[in-house]
Amino acid sequence: MPVETKTTCPYCGVGCGVVARVDEDGAVSVKGDPDHPSNYGRLCSKGSALAETIDLDGRILHPEIGGRQSTWDAALDRVAEKFAKTIVEHGPDSVAFYVSGQLLTEDYYVANKLMKGFIGSANIDTNSRLCMSSSVAGHRRAFGSDTVPGNYEDLELADLVILTGSNLAWCHPVLYQRLAAAKARRPGMRVVVIDPRRTMTADIADLHLAIRPDTDVALFVGLFSHLVSNNAIDQNYVAAHTSGFAETFLAASAVSFADVLEQTGLPTMQLREFYRLFTATEKVVTCYSQGVNQSSSGTDKVNAILNCHLATGRIGRPGMGPFSLTGQPNAMGGREVGGLANMLAAHMALESEEDRDRVQHFWQSPVIAGKPGLKAVDLFQAVGDGRIKALWIMATNPVVSMPDADAVEAALKACPFVVVSDVLKDTDTARHAHVLLPSLGWGEKSGTVTSSERRISRQRAFLDVPGAARADWWQLAEVARRMGFAEAFAFDTPAQIFAEHAALSAFDNDGRRDFDIGAHAGIDRQAYDVLSPFQWPQPAGRDRAESRFFAKGGFYHPDGKARFVAVEPVACDRTSAAYPFTLNTGRIRDQWHTMTRTGKSARLSAHIAEPFAELHPRDALELGVVPAGLVEIESPGGRAVVRALVTDRQARGSVFVPMHWNDQFAAKARIDTLVPPLTDRISGQPASKNVAVAARALKVACYGFAVSLAKPESLDAAYWALAKADGGWRLELAFTDAVEDWSAWCRRTFVIPDTIDPLGYADQRTGETRLAFFDGPRLLAAVFLAREPVAVARTWAVAQLTAEHADLRKRFALVAGRPGADKPDPGATVCSCFGVGVNQIVAAVHGGCRSVEAVGKALNAGTNCGSCRGEIRGIVEGCLAAAAE
Ligand code: SF4
Repeated sequence: MPVETKTTCPYCGVGCGVVARVDEDGAVSVKGDPDHPSNYGRLCSKGSALAETIDLDGRILHPEIGGRQSTWDAALDRVAEKFAKTIVEHGPDSVAFYVSGQLLTEDYYVANKLMKGFIGSANIDTNSRLCMSSSVAGHRRAFGSDTVPGNYEDLELADLVILTGSNLAWCHPVLYQRLAAAKARRPGMRVVVIDPRRTMTADIADLHLAIRPDTDVALFVGLFSHLVSNNAIDQNYVAAHTSGFAETFLAASAVSFADVLEQTGLPTMQLREFYRLFTATEKVVTCYSQGVNQSSSGTDKVNAILNCHLATGRIGRPGMGPFSLTGQPNAMGGREVGGLANMLAAHMALESEEDRDRVQHFWQSPVIAGKPGLKAVDLFQAVGDGRIKALWIMATNPVVSMPDADAVEAALKACPFVVVSDVLKDTDTARHAHVLLPSLGWGEKSGTVTSSERRISRQRAFLDVPGAARADWWQLAEVARRMGFAEAFAFDTPAQIFAEHAALSAFDNDGRRDFDIGAHAGIDRQAYDVLSPFQWPQPAGRDRAESRFFAKGGFYHPDGKARFVAVEPVACDRTSAAYPFTLNTGRIRDQWHTMTRTGKSARLSAHIAEPFAELHPRDALELGVVPAGLVEIESPGGRAVVRALVTDRQARGSVFVPMHWNDQFAAKARIDTLVPPLTDRISGQPASKNVAVAARALKVACYGFAVSLAKPESLDAAYWALAKADGGWRLELAFTDAVEDWSAWCRRTFVIPDTIDPLGYADQRTGETRLAFFDGPRLLAAVFLAREPVAVARTWAVAQLTAEHADLRKRFALVAGRPGADKPDPGATVCSCFGVGVNQIVAAVHGGCRSVEAVGKALNAGTNCGSCRGEIRGIVEGCLAAAAE
């Protein structure tokens, strides 16, 4: 009998419920959980492809010491002994943990407890520092606590939704679909998108404000002044529940409307319209994400937004409030346990002696960290300069994702002792581990995660444990026992850890702290197994009918009042004559973080198969960059080579490059090598979206595209980008120098035996060369080369990997580089769920489909997760406009 398990998606902070089904033959499939209140059955393209990412290819299945397989005992002994010795010799601050928003809350809890309560240092930080720490800092300044006041439902109930620094359509797709559906039901709802780039999210915007990078503070300070001038302040709310209004207004008064226009670069009419909309609309939700957080002024941006909601009393009521959208599946859980170096545990403050005493008493720990630890950027700098001598990295890949990534790699190389716990053996980070520990992956591990709306959901195991892999919490507890803390870490199940975490949240609380899930303190294994998704707070013995915070005040500063924070816009143009472009980094629709999981799915790789730079057409022209040519991006920190995507969605002077590609999938595309270690002074969050860079065309002698059955072994090319394909791999190539013997190059790259001769075509005049190697009816590899970007039908070429080639005509068609008339090329994949390409959509429009819905009916495209609906709309509108000309 097939077995179905309710679990949670491991990607973004929307926290969608997933039903995973394992058939009798072991086949796994997933669908959205119709009962989960985050997604009501929806999944985006990434969530839908989860079953394609759980194979054991590349997994580490046994512990390794120095690259050699070891027993768990030997590995754990080594970790405990090295950490203990380092602490004895150099003190507790000479060791550190760098953990992750991918960890489950139970893993996070044990890591934090060990570091802060038993090692006695706060040197535990997390990749969530790169994601939302500015929101945490902004919340704490304004509310006295790290509280997200609202619910997802508020986006559907609002009359005005502002999305600032958030490409919701690609980064939180299911929430975007909820918003789009609500807007379709209530066309009077208004959506404003604030982003220097016209992203897919702007597809549903009534107003797109393409502000200059990092000018959000000016925009919202100006809005604050406008609200005051137009009598839109909720005087009662401000008087009863806030302090600091007068000082904040005084500071805001120094910023005129003209100043805002000048800083943001917005047209007057657009700015007036935005301010008018906000002023006139009671039900306003302002969502913000990495475009706000990943900035040297991230915390001020957050407070500038919060100021406007506090001033109007639009907070904590249905359809109203500021809303921080977290990027990672469990960044919120990490915040709850205190996984950041400047937090303690259960939303208690490291700087509060009372809180420290309370936590130490609860843990019965020998010590408690007395001061904040090193935040991510500082932490890796301390590794680099030798202050940190033993480092344990869990479930994250900082050699790709940290700013100044090459310096991070150098620091790991120099560190005397590096432990990495991960699921994959060959990541850019794992290769620097002295001890490599095999962790459980999604589907194997069990615990809880918290979504952006404070909803705690179970991730449940439904797969057998592979090899000797073990849960992260187990690894930590075993090391803690070996360091002499056996009693405090006597956990045998994640349920026991969750029960303790819940008990700590309620310990000596009485409503003084926002995070209280005391109703689950002491939960037993059976109850934990069937735990349904719930929103915090859930205190013990007290009904809390209201799921939102702050409609009637009740803030967590000692006087119960919120604080207005006077913030000042600062100049943020970092460009110079040498580095005249502003680099913005971010995510794409179908990849996640550093591609260690989504990179396994051919379907997800079909949407965008290589790293790219979005450039404005006039910038491209001036640089001599041709569409689909290659562009070099350079900063003082590093250099990347990526495909040029020339589009007027991009602002002039700006370049967008995704953050996903790493050394496993591309020659030179770790974009965080270009990002300097510049951080927000309060939150310590790196400024990953405003980097001064130079851009230039890469002079290419020959472009190439290849498909191969086997993974290419060594790639000798100036540019390459590798992606999984059905039946094998696809490869984009470019060479700056001529290659003498293409046949020999292919043999080396694709490991083709000398006994197999290629079928080939070469045209000296045009420089086109095509070679294909067959083993019987199977295609082993084919390569298409040209002086210009190769125009071969890629989806068709990839499909040849799984096609039979016994028929000679098929072989010649492949070398001709053209699908036969009976096999039209579907074009680049737009809809990943149903594998629908751009050419199919264009054909459907020419056949009479004049809307996204009509295309959906004809091809199914856009009818599952809906993540591609914006792109489909663009294609439909483009075709209709072209036909009208
Ligand atoms: S929106 Fe997509 S990636 Fe995010 S939790 Fe839902 S299914 Fe997963």
